[in-house]
Formats: sequence, C-alpha cells, structure tokens
Amino acid sequence: MFEKILIANRGEIALRIQRACREMGIKTVVVHSEADREAKYVKLADESVCIGPAPSAQSYLNMPAIISAAEVTDAEAIHPGYGFLSENADFAERVEQSGFVFIGPRPESIRMMGDKVTAKQTMIKAGVPCVPGSEGALPDDPKEIVRIARKVGYPVIIKAAGGGGGRGMRVVHTEAALLNAVTMTKTEAGAAFGNPEVYMEKFLENPRHVEIQILADEFKNAIWLGERDCSMQRRHQKVIEEAPAPGIPRKIVERIGDRCAEACRKMGYRGAGTFEFLYENGEFYFIEMNTRVQVEHPVTEMITGVDIVQEQIRIAAGEKLRYRQRDIVLNGHAIECRINAEDPFKFTPSPGRINAWHAPGGPGIRVDSHVYAGYFVPPNYDSMVGKVISYGATREQAIRRMQIALSEMVVEGIQTNIALHRELMVDARFIEGGTNIHYLEHKLANKPDLPKTTEIKS
Ligand code: ADP
Repeated sequence: MFEKILIANRGEIALRIQRACREMGIKTVVVHSEADREAKYVKLADESVCIGPAPSAQSYLNMPAIISAAEVTDAEAIHPGYGFLSENADFAERVEQSGFVFIGPRPESIRMMGDKVTAKQTMIKAGVPCVPGSEGALPDDPKEIVRIARKVGYPVIIKAAGGGGGRGMRVVHTEAALLNAVTMTKTEAGAAFGNPEVYMEKFLENPRHVEIQILADEFKNAIWLGERDCSMQRRHQKVIEEAPAPGIPRKIVERIGDRCAEACRKMGYRGAGTFEFLYENGEFYFIEMNTRVQVEHPVTEMITGVDIVQEQIRIAAGEKLRYRQRDIVLNGHAIECRINAEDPFKFTPSPGRINAWHAPGGPGIRVDSHVYAGYFVPPNYDSMVGKVISYGATREQAIRRMQIALSEMVVEGIQTNIALHRELMVDARFIEGGTNIHYLEHKLANKPDLPKTTEIKS
C-alpha cells in the first residue's frame, strides 16, 4: 500500500479523500491555490503545497505544478477527485511518466470515454444498449444530416463529442431548425472543448437519469454496486441523487448492471467508474461513462457499505478486488442533497464569508463538507459547499430524516439552496418517486416571478 498520496483537488472531495487516506494509515499531501490556503482540510493534511493563484487554470489545472508538488513531497500516487484534471487523459499519462501512480483508470480508457462518440461505439460493441442516433460523428453533408435526423425521428438532440458538465447540447424539434442548430453546436463545441465533432441522438421526452457504479481491478475482475437515480436536475446538472432508483424492477436493473460489469472486463477497464443511462418505458439507454469518483458516490456507499474512495486507492495500488458480485447486497435507501452557495430559486452564485454554519446530525445523517463558520467561499470555483446524505431502512425513512436534517441546518452569511431542497423533500411527486429529468425545470417554470430556464445550453 502507498505511504503517501497527493490529493489534486479542493473542497469537500479533497477532505473526503483525505479521510479515506487517514483511515487507511496513508499520509496526505494537499495541494491548494492561494484562495484555499486557510481551509481547515489543508491544515489537517500531513503536508500542503501552494500550487498557484486562485484561478483554476493557474492552480488546480496546472499539471507541472501538481507533478512538482508530488516530487518535492515524495508522494507515490495522485488522486484527482472529480472535475479539474480527473478526466484528463494527458494528465494521467504525465503523472505515470513522471513515476507516480494515477489513482484512476488507464489513460487510454479515459481518452476513449472522454470522446462520447468513441464511448458509444465501444458500448455498442460491448453489448450495452445506447440511445438511438447517428452512427458516430455527424458528417458535413447537410443532406446526410437531414436524412439521419429523419431516420432517428424528431425531436433530436445534437451533442458535442467532447462535451461535459451538462454543456454542449441542443434540442431540435423540427427539420427547419436542424442545420442551424448543428452548425451552432459545432462552433461552440470547437471553442469550448477544442473538438468541433458533434453527434445526434433521439431526444427522449420523459426519461429518468439512472446510473450504475462499477469497480474493476487490474486483473479483469469487475463488479457493480447498484444504481443511483439522478433525475432531479436543473440545466442538465444534478441537484438530488438517491439509491436505489425507486420503482424500477430489480430484474431490469440487474440485467443492465451485469452488462456494465461485463463491458468493464471486455474493455480491460480499471478503477471506479459510472455508466450513465437514460431510463424510459422499461429500457436503459447508455449516454456516457464517467471515469472517476462522482459527487453522488456517498449514496452508493450508504446502501452497500463499500468505501468507494478506499477501493479506488486499493485498486491503484495493484490489489485484487476484495468483493465479488454476490458480496454486494443493497440495504435500505439513501438520498443526497447538494448544498450550493447560490440563490435558492434564481441560482445566481453567492460566494462570501459564512458567518454561521450549523450542520445537521443524528441517526442516518452524513454531511460531507469542508466548510465551517468563518469559512470564505471563494468566487473562483464550483458553488457546491457540501452534501447532506440521509440513510433509512426505507425510502420514506430516508426522506423523513432528510426533512429533519434540512430543518436543523443553518447557514448564514451566504445564500444557499437549502430552501429549494426543503421544498423538494415535501413535494408530492418526489415523495411518490420516479420523477423524470425535466420535472424540476417544469416545477421551477411554474413558479411565478422566477426566471424561466431553457433547455438549450452550450
Ligand atoms: P454531460 O457529460 O454534459 O453530463 P450527458 O450526455 O451525461 O452530458 O447528458 C447530461 C444530461 O442531459 C442527462 O442527464 C439528460 O438530462 C440530458 N440528456 C442527454 N442526452 C439526452 C437525450 N438523448 N434525451 C434527453 N435528454 C438527454
């Protein structure tokens, strides 16, 4: 096992990884920007290294600075967390070329899944069902594009091969709007992701977002750890996640879970990963694979008892998976609310000094957060300041516990979306379970005096 790991991230996930390391008796090095110098988790680390000024491009995305930090501190491995460089194949490659272990998949796997066109083609070969659409990237010939769209059937969605984070997609309802939408998405994708390639999918009208967590080792052992439902979204970004997905017959989930594990064995995938699907009318359709730990991993940890971050570390150290599929038994229900520093209904970011922070607790409540009273939320990064996770023997109990947790929680000095979560936890349709990916947008759109959000986002 490693003696020392460098954590190349910030915020709650940096603290989450640090906790995993400490439990395993591994020393930690935390790298940080000038804006995060005072954060408590930075002080808790065995060592810390400032890698640059606040803007991410000069710190958390600064590959040479991170690798130098590993060199000067004699760290053996680098955990990238999520976001930042976690899905950057070049970074993974540079880490390994510099003699360190990258805690994640092989660079080739990251590269393959990072291009959504190649990812889909790989899945089709591996027997994983995908959303119907263009076979590969769209050609230049406008007539061909029109023909493909007719075959797929309107509405369609144009998506950037290099897209991510809910960006780089456009819904098209009519043939008249098609070619213009393709051109615009291509231009934007070229500028935003350095890759103008786009592809087409059938736009599913009422799907749920259901994803499968997997773990795979060096030796082609692969298991899946149940599913998560992440349908409560705004602008294609997740707001609430839960596990298991309410109301989906276990047989259907098991079939797709086994397919995902099998696909990992076929691809020679190593590490933790998530297969994301849209689920509609009893069918799963693959949309993309994330080759890293995800924000919502705690809900899976709560119902399986598996520490996903610790397993990532063990796999990277070359250990064999400690679990077989039959060891994975789902128990109870877990829900996660992402707590963001933002206006709860207008969604404008609200960075600044937190004056009061009273975190909830009690049976079945887990709070993953790096913040505290007196903490300054820097304006430079993602607005998420923490996650509240509730666990219950049943979904009803998990909801009840989350309602109580949210009622106890006090955050002053900045605005947060806690008020939105409180509303959603008593929302009749949410309580019933199984709302689709458009539900939250529709609910918000029907609130008077709120800015309307649009489906089109680039
Ligand atoms: P990203 O990498 O940006 O997260 P995804 O391909 O995972 O992109 O899609 C993000 C979200 O966009 C999905 O959770 C879903 O809400 C919506 N979406 C993507 N593809 C489709 C589709 N074919 N039909 C309907 N909604 C879609």
